[in-house]
Amino acid sequence: MLDLVFVSASGKTVIIDWKVTKGLGDYRQQMLVYALAVTRSTSWQSVGPDYVELYEVNLLKDDVRRHGITREMLDEAEDFAYGSLFELQALIDGRTYEDLDLNEFEIPEKPIICQYCTLAPLCTRLLIEAGRPEAAAVIQGRLF
Ligand code: SF4
Repeated sequence: MLDLVFVSASGKTVIIDWKVTKGLGDYRQQMLVYALAVTRSTSWQSVGPDYVELYEVNLLKDDVRRHGITREMLDEAEDFAYGSLFELQALIDGRTYEDLDLNEFEIPEKPIICQYCTLAPLCTRLLIEAGRPEAAAVIQGRLF
């Protein structure tokens, strides 16, 4: 979800994403997906990448990072978004949540994926309920 979007005095559409993490993360891809959404949205003036500014603002570290944006980067972000959607559809194979078996799904190999996942509390509870306390413990160990 976009944290803040506004049109600056210079006419540029500014996208700000607040972060409250202590560790380092790479949010470039996430920010570019936000930019893609804004440039495609009918709620905003039709803008190209030259008229969008992306800022990642870490409130805990007092750090402001500006991400560059080009047409090619937006195309890559679109490929990433569609690729992720197709992977998700292939995983669930048209089934509803009620039909899914959590035991079919492995946890990611890369700890950083869980570290920044907003679903981690729900995920660990469901894993414990599904009889996978070891997997839940691995995820909890990744969070701190
Ligand atoms: S916390 Fe759970 S839902 Fe989130 S990335 Fe890790 S395994 Fe996936």
